[in-house]
Amino acid sequence: MNCIFCGIVSGEVKSQIVYENDDVLAFKDLNPQAPTHLLIIPKKHISRLAESQDGDAEILGKVLLAARDLAKKFDIKDFRLVTNNGKGAGQTVDHLHFHFMAGRRFLWPAG
Ligand code: AMP
Ligand code: ZN
Repeated sequence: MNCIFCGIVSGEVKSQIVYENDDVLAFKDLNPQAPTHLLIIPKKHISRLAESQDGDAEILGKVLLAARDLAKKFDIKDFRLVTNNGKGAGQTVDHLHFHFMAGRRFLWPAG
């Protein structure tokens, strides 16, 4: 399988990792859209949230806890956590990821 984020997990693709545990990795987005723009991913290849399984519940929970930990680590009070599920929603990388963004004001509803 040719997945760029699996490459980051294996270390074959270089990235700026800011957080890691057994199931989750977070690294800086290459093309940041906010002063802080991180991507939180499960190390396991899940192509999108809609493709996750009941057995992934613990991993998915750990992704959310990683967002909590990152906010604490970087002393961030307000942040936005977003996943784009499917091309029509803006998904360009087919490995589940959550955008963790902070440091500016965000519009609501999201564009
Ligand atoms: P999405 O459009 O929601 O699928 O988000 C994919 C994100 O991955 C975009 O914000 C890209 O800038 C980012 N991205 C793509 N390749 C890399 C990479 N090698 N390292 C870090 N971020 C990446
Ligand atoms: Zn992958």
